[in-house]
Amino acid sequence: MGLFDGKKGLILGVANDRSIAWAIAQKIMEEGGICGFSHLPDRPDDDKQKNRRRVTKCTEKHPESVKFVEPLDVQNDEQIAAFAELTAKEFGKIDFLLHSIAFADMRDLGVDTIETSRGGFKLAMDISVFSLIAVCNAMKGVMNENAAVAAMTYFGGEKCVPGYNVMGICKAALDAAVRYLAYDLGPQQVRVNAVSAGPLKTLAGSAAGVGDMLKLYQHMAPLNRNITHEEVGNAGAYLLSDMSNGITGEILHVDGGYNAMGSPGRLLDAINAAKKQT
Ligand code: NDP
Repeated sequence: MGLFDGKKGLILGVANDRSIAWAIAQKIMEEGGICGFSHLPDRPDDDKQKNRRRVTKCTEKHPESVKFVEPLDVQNDEQIAAFAELTAKEFGKIDFLLHSIAFADMRDLGVDTIETSRGGFKLAMDISVFSLIAVCNAMKGVMNENAAVAAMTYFGGEKCVPGYNVMGICKAALDAAVRYLAYDLGPQQVRVNAVSAGPLKTLAGSAAGVGDMLKLYQHMAPLNRNITHEEVGNAGAYLLSDMSNGITGEILHVDGGYNAMGSPGRLLDAINAAKKQT
C-alpha cells in the first residue's frame, strides 16, 4: 500500500531530472500517486518543442503515473486559468499541488541587492512569489478536502546570504505567502507548507551560485555533509501526503541542520587546523 495510492495532483517546475520537483514527483509516483506536469510553453516556431521535451524525457519513463504534461507560464493569468480547467477535466479534484518555481534575471542576481533594477525585482517577485498565490487561487475550487500545497524555499529568505540577493527577498515573501495562504485555505482543510532545502545542483541552483554554498554546508551543517535530491524528495512528498495532516503554514528545513547553527561550528576548527599547518 503506497502513501499516495488513489491520490492525484500537480507538479509545477520540472526542468530536467536534476529538478527538485522531479525528485519529489518521483517519490510521489513511487508511492502510487498520479501526476499532471507543467512545462514552460515553447515558442510557436520551435518545432523541436525543447521545453516540452525536457520534461517528457523524465515523464515518459512513468506512463502509468503521468496523466498529462501541458504548458504553463505562471506569469500569464489566462494560462493559469486554462491549466486549472484542464486539471478539473482530467482529474476532477486534486489532492496535492507542488510549486517548485523561481526565476530572477542573471543581471539582477549578479549585482549587489542594492543595485537590483525595478523591472528585475518585479519579474523575480512575480514568477517566484505571486505565482504561488495565483495558482492557489485558481486551483482552490479543484482541491479536495485535505489537499496539500507545497512550495520550495531557501534560508536566504530568513537571513542574509550574500550572493542570493534579490532571490532572498523573494523567498522571504514566499515564506510569508505560505503562512497567509495557509490561513486562507485552512477552512477548506487545505494545507500550505514549504520545504527549505539546502543547496542542490540544479539549473536554478547553479544560477543562484550553489557551488560555494555546497562547500560551506559541508563544513557548517551539523550533519557535516550536503543533502541529497532524494532527501528533499522524501520531505516534499511527506508535506504533500496525509502523513503531515495537521501541519500547515510551516517551513520545513531539509538542510542537514545548517539553519540551527549560531556560529560557524566545525568550519572554525577547519580554519584553525589550516592555520596551524601554514
Ligand atoms: P530548476 O531550474 O530545475 O526548476 C525551476 C523551475 O522553474 C523550472 O522548471 C523552470 O522552467 C520553472 N520556471 C521558471 N519560470 C517559470 C515561469 N514563468 N512559469 C513556469 N515555470 C517557470 O531548479 P530547482 O529545482 O533548483 O528549483 C525549484 C525550486 O527550488 C525553486 O523555487 C528554487 O528557488 C528552490 N530551491 C532550490 C534550491 C537549490 O539549491 N537548487 C535550494 C532551495 C530552494 P524552465 O527551466 O523551463 O525555465
